[in-house]
Amino acid sequence: MHAMTLATVALNEVHPNPANPRYDLGNRDTLTASIKDRGIIQPLVVTPDPEGGYTIIAGHRRHASATDAGLTEILVNIVPDADAATIAAAMVHENTQRAGFTDAELARGIQGMLDTGATAAAIAKGLGAKRDTIKNLAAAHAAPEDTRAYLHAGEISLDQALALADLESKDADLYATTLAAVEDGQNPDWVLRKAREAIAKAEAVAQAEKIAADTGVTIITERPSGWDGKSKHLKSDEEIAQHHGQPCYGIYPTVTNDGEAVVQHWCTKTRAHDPKAETVEVSEDDKAERRRVIANNKAWDTANGVRRAWLTESLHPRTTIPKKHIPTLLALNIATPYSEEHVREAVRIVAAVKNGAWPGAEAHAKATVNDGATLRTHLLATIARHEDRVSKTVWRENRTGFAAHLTLLADLGYTLTPPEAHYVTTHNNGDHTATQTYTTD
Ligand SMILES: [Zn+2]
Repeated sequence: MHAMTLATVALNEVHPNPANPRYDLGNRDTLTASIKDRGIIQPLVVTPDPEGGYTIIAGHRRHASATDAGLTEILVNIVPDADAATIAAAMVHENTQRAGFTDAELARGIQGMLDTGATAAAIAKGLGAKRDTIKNLAAAHAAPEDTRAYLHAGEISLDQALALADLESKDADLYATTLAAVEDGQNPDWVLRKAREAIAKAEAVAQAEKIAADTGVTIITERPSGWDGKSKHLKSDEEIAQHHGQPCYGIYPTVTNDGEAVVQHWCTKTRAHDPKAETVEVSEDDKAERRRVIANNKAWDTANGVRRAWLTESLHPRTTIPKKHIPTLLALNIATPYSEEHVREAVRIVAAVKNGAWPGAEAHAKATVNDGATLRTHLLATIARHEDRVSKTVWRENRTGFAAHLTLLADLGYTLTPPEAHYVTTHNNGDHTATQTYTTD
């Protein structure tokens, strides 16, 4: 800036600069009180306004407080020939000196400098910033007003503001729901990631639809497992070419881990390519496997029904628990909260008790559960917890806890059904259902 003239001018001749990047002047109580006491110590920097009076370059906050303090005159440094670019730059530079200058305000100042014709490179050099930073700030200033408000409030970062602006340009509805989620206090990075994935997924679907329209290939809507031996992700051009026109071939629109839209190529019936698979013999095996699964499901359903009828009709009406079950019950109570690890520990304790390795177990159980009614309640609650967790998954897999549960019921007088007995006797070999077919009689 050129030579300045120090002068005292009428306060009402000094006007705020409409391009001041600062959004608000903050709490000025202390400053106003100080100006009332001691007047303006540091002069404002102003420039003559062609329409009369002076426009502030630096000192908006002092000007506002001087007005509140009732001053009629004010000390200013007049810059005689400041052009728009100089003023814009000076306002940014002045504000970068103060604490609390937000990215939203800096963005507004940068845009003001760009508006006067300054280049991003020149601004970057003047501020000692990277050119990309200047470009990002300008882009943030172009963000929707509510995003800028969040940036100004410090609720979101500059990167998040840019991501929101980008989202708004692509999908206004998704932008609105994302911003609402941020307002609800959800993590901005998380909701932005979800939004980007949704956009990428829509892009992938659009790409897939175009391919389908051009080639007639089927679009797969749910991701094939790839691990079941029945489907295969086709990755090479050669594999894809071999599948063109075949009924097993489909495309699956999805999103990569990096959030990019992608259309995958899949063979959904790999067995159709296995010459052996087409023989009647193997196909009969498939049918037999299917029958076995259905039969097992029926057997398990029947077993569940039989067991629960016994629990209702025989166990629940009982008011006392046989003394010999106390250690087992204690162990099962140790097994809650239910987890495989706890259950294994419980099973170990039961074994220890049965082998006489823990003679204090009964006394310990009695000290923990001191009357028959409470003991009974504990028992029923323990059984109920295990029954709650019974599902086809439990039946198919090898769960120590379920086996221990069935063992307890058998101890209490329940006659295990064949699938239950099989479960109990094989629960440690890790492969109890692979080829076994249960019967219900
Ligand atoms: Zn195929």
